[in-house]
Amino acid sequence: VTGRLTRRGFLGLAGAAGAAVLIDRLRARRLPGGRAPRGAGAFPHILLLVFDTLSARHLSIHGYARPASPNIARWAERARVYHRHYAGGSFTTSGTASLLTGTYPWTHRAMHLYGSLREGLAARNLFHLLAGAYTQTAYTHNPLAYLLLDQCRRAGAELDLVPMHTLLHGAELASHAPNDFAAALNAELQLRRIENDDPSGLLFLGVGEFFYKYARLTSVNNAHLHAYPAGYPRTSHGAFFTLEEAVQWIAGRLTAASAPALAYVHLLPPHEPYLPPRPFLGQFTAAAPPAAKPPHPLAEDPLPPRYLQRARAEYDEYLAYADAAFGSLMDGLETAGILQDTIVILTSDHGQLFERGIHGHVTPVLYEPLIRIPLLIWQPGAARQDIHTPTSAVDILPTLLHLAGQSPPAWAEGEILPGFSAAHTGARAIFVVDAKGSSKFQPLMQATLAIIRGDHKAIQYRGFAGLENAVECYDLAADPEELNPLSPELPEFRELLRALDEAADAADQRLAT
Ligand SMILES: [Zn+2]
Repeated sequence: VTGRLTRRGFLGLAGAAGAAVLIDRLRARRLPGGRAPRGAGAFPHILLLVFDTLSARHLSIHGYARPASPNIARWAERARVYHRHYAGGSFTTSGTASLLTGTYPWTHRAMHLYGSLREGLAARNLFHLLAGAYTQTAYTHNPLAYLLLDQCRRAGAELDLVPMHTLLHGAELASHAPNDFAAALNAELQLRRIENDDPSGLLFLGVGEFFYKYARLTSVNNAHLHAYPAGYPRTSHGAFFTLEEAVQWIAGRLTAASAPALAYVHLLPPHEPYLPPRPFLGQFTAAAPPAAKPPHPLAEDPLPPRYLQRARAEYDEYLAYADAAFGSLMDGLETAGILQDTIVILTSDHGQLFERGIHGHVTPVLYEPLIRIPLLIWQPGAARQDIHTPTSAVDILPTLLHLAGQSPPAWAEGEILPGFSAAHTGARAIFVVDAKGSSKFQPLMQATLAIIRGDHKAIQYRGFAGLENAVECYDLAADPEELNPLSPELPEFRELLRALDEAADAADQRLAT
């Protein structure tokens, strides 16, 4: 199942053919003994499945006009669906760290590109806390997430962190140091400052390596031109992958697991570069644009609306590829009888922005498409439940502990998710923190902070030239597109901003201890 790419692997992910191939392989694996034996009363497996850069605002289950996610919509009929779920940060490092630690970036401090958890707090992660309850596996396509997972593992988690090259092919990154991959990867990333948009990242390489990689890219793309006319799926550092291979690998790991298993799998799509295969490519080019929004003062070189429209369509097509892979995985797990023993959690690390002159997620703004992410949970025997109270990525850790019969630690900033605990109230505040311009070790100086409570949201800009002490306040029920800022002097927003200041001050004080 974990074999190299095959031509068969390129076929028909979208349709029944892909699922049928997967199901056949699973059945073959399970003969003659069937499912691996499980202890009586054992916890179900947990699959924590992260699609990078998956904005909730682009899903039809949350009202998006384009039908880019039919499989998520189909499977939502049997899930707990969290309609207002927020990331803790706005890019991979900060968002993933909040998911893994149950704390906001102002606490865990993995808030810079290539950043790491605050030293001394690295053992505060879900793998460490759940080590006695599950055998643990993690895999990611994303080097920034890999560095965090490796830090969790080094802090004492009993985590089988699967090498990145297991599902990535042709990447020479850090290949000179197989015995200390994370350290070598870290050094290499720092050195090259590889940016999101390939192939510009290639320009940071030496001339010889640039031409070598360019030639290989061209050769791989040409070899698969029929199925992938836009280019073969790849990471920012030029490693190739398919989601079908990842789906087969996940199913294989769960099939083989005998003890209760916790698997964290973090796949790159729909993160750019957007490279949808043929069934999805070109399907959304004619759709209507979203509401026009003026460029934000923090948008450097604002991109024109026509560019943003085209990028949005390409993203939606790549999202449809991720959605098809998700459907194929769930169908395969169900047919193979694994789903009846498995809790599946589908989420992301952050969203994506195509508005106000900004494309991407490395930006100081905190608008809804960037910070609202999906959260759907399938639990054996549970019916669909729609939850509209705001929830956060920091709630995952307390909820997983609850499912394992443990109490959440006092330092966790999240709560057990509604649907799993009756104690939940809708009145609490959710925070989102972006602080790339602040020191890891000092109180926040330059940062964008958001607080959401009920339908109200306030965004506070700290330390940006020209935006001193600027705030934006929105009623998300009346103004979901965040086009009409309300006065911060209204009593509800004064109170919200005071609560935000209190929480940020408390985080600064904890940093000093
Ligand atoms: Zn990410």
